[in-house]
Amino acid sequence: MTTTIDAITRGRAVERVLEGHPTSDGAGVKLTRVLTQPLQRRLDPFLMLDAFGSDNRDDYIAGFPDHPHRGFETVTYMIAGRMRHRDSAGHEGLLQNGGVQWMTAGRGVVHSELPEQEEGRMEGFQLWLNLPAKSKMRDPWYRDIQAADIPVVTTPEGVTARVIAGESHGVEGAVRREVTEPLYLDLEIPAGATFAQPIPAGHNAFVYVYRGALEIEGTPVPVQRMAILANDAQSEGVVLRATEPTRALLIAGKPLKEPIAQYGPFVMNTEGEIRKAMLDYQAGLFTSR
Ligand code: MN
Repeated sequence: MTTTIDAITRGRAVERVLEGHPTSDGAGVKLTRVLTQPLQRRLDPFLMLDAFGSDNRDDYIAGFPDHPHRGFETVTYMIAGRMRHRDSAGHEGLLQNGGVQWMTAGRGVVHSELPEQEEGRMEGFQLWLNLPAKSKMRDPWYRDIQAADIPVVTTPEGVTARVIAGESHGVEGAVRREVTEPLYLDLEIPAGATFAQPIPAGHNAFVYVYRGALEIEGTPVPVQRMAILANDAQSEGVVLRATEPTRALLIAGKPLKEPIAQYGPFVMNTEGEIRKAMLDYQAGLFTSR
């Protein structure tokens, strides 16, 4: 499906513009939690988005030593830097400069994510995508996607879209998921240019600006802000206009509308399943290396 800006006669408006929360995770990595737990229902099927970016080794060097996950998927996108990943299923990979790691934790993995650099810039994002109840206990799965293998589309206006998941302007993304139908685009938009993206009306959607500034239906979205896009039955998608040279993530997906029970790295549907996850982890059932 090729779509031009003309196909979107009514773009989604901005419902809220939010600033992320500075925090730290792992063994003390400084990051900004953009999508926080109180937004999980509103942005179902997405559970979390962290942005990390620093030239200071002290902010990232400790990394994320061995820790478990169950019940969802993690999507790590590196803009700059190198991170070594190892998991209990025997997978190992180097995530670097524009590459993506898509990991389905399913019934459980223990993994580490550790910087493989002593200095320089480390910048990227980690998105958590929920799994439907029926798939939470599936086998773990993972794929490293190098930068060169991420499909890219350049529009006549000079906008570059890296299509990590979903489909944009006729280009199929690196990953497709049937139930949640995620769209994950990294956009590079020249000043003054616009980018239109169809989004099904029932899907939840948000934009995170990490360089420059955008305007969406007249609402300014400054750098390091997330815009939640209003769900509008009459709208075919969104139109982004860059007011400066801009880089932004556009993320959308079909809500699961299932109960969410989270305790740290475990995301299930009920408190009972969370207790089971903790017991299984303590019993060593998330195979350890
Ligand atoms: Mn992890």
